[in-house]
Amino acid sequence: MSVLSSFESTRFYIENQFNNVVNQQFNGSHTLTAFFLLLVANFGVYWSFGLLFLGFDLLSTKLKRYKINSNHKNLQLSTAKLITVIKGVVFNQLITFGLICSVLYIRNVYLKFESQKKIPSFGRFLLEFIVHFLLQETLFYFVHRLMHKKWFYMKFHKIHHEWSTPIAILALYTHPVEHIFLNMLPLIVAPIIFQSHILVIFFFLSYETLVALISHSGYKFPWISKNAVFHDWHHLKKSENYGAMGLWDKILGTDKEYQKAIQSNKNKTI
Ligand SMILES: [Zn+2]
Ligand SMILES: [Zn+2]
Repeated sequence: MSVLSSFESTRFYIENQFNNVVNQQFNGSHTLTAFFLLLVANFGVYWSFGLLFLGFDLLSTKLKRYKINSNHKNLQLSTAKLITVIKGVVFNQLITFGLICSVLYIRNVYLKFESQKKIPSFGRFLLEFIVHFLLQETLFYFVHRLMHKKWFYMKFHKIHHEWSTPIAILALYTHPVEHIFLNMLPLIVAPIIFQSHILVIFFFLSYETLVALISHSGYKFPWISKNAVFHDWHHLKKSENYGAMGLWDKILGTDKEYQKAIQSNKNKTI
């Protein structure tokens, strides 16, 4: 069997299984299924992994050796601060859930969008993922840089930077306006352009949620160290590393001091 035909048979298998679940569990409603998957990706992934990291922070002394720097190792977490973060994040997640569900409802019910039943081919999925990745990286970088202009910073972005030593669940702790333009906009553009299948949207949302949690976790685990170290530097210095993965920071030179510190390895914060 060729690689292409095995991809195709896998696609058929997933499509059949998915449609069976839709028919049996959600009365054949793709819209209801989409709402459920968004609930899982938006709240389920965030809080299961976010609280796991918080558990590491509060309970595990063994994992302290994986913390990025001494600020993280000695971090004091008060209940009042944690409650403020949890409230802010849940509010933003309700905005995300409400807005995406509204868009999907209009798309599926009023516009009678038909291709929701077809799982994309592997090639199509790869194309959607590459375009999504590039758009996410580009929009996030430039909107984030805008958020560091004085007016935007004081009005919106300051809240996220209250913590110079971040923890995982801080990922979505932002002003609601910032949440819509910095967190949501880069995430939804590609799925709107491609009219993506809900499983693809589910994958993107879960993937970006995990990346955001790891980036704020403060943990330098050997297999996932880059994102956390990269974004930790942004919280520490506030004037570099605006991107999610660092593509535009490299192109536009907004990671020079960070690269120097990485190269010399003298800076104790890395
Ligand atoms: Zn951050
Ligand atoms: Zn920032």
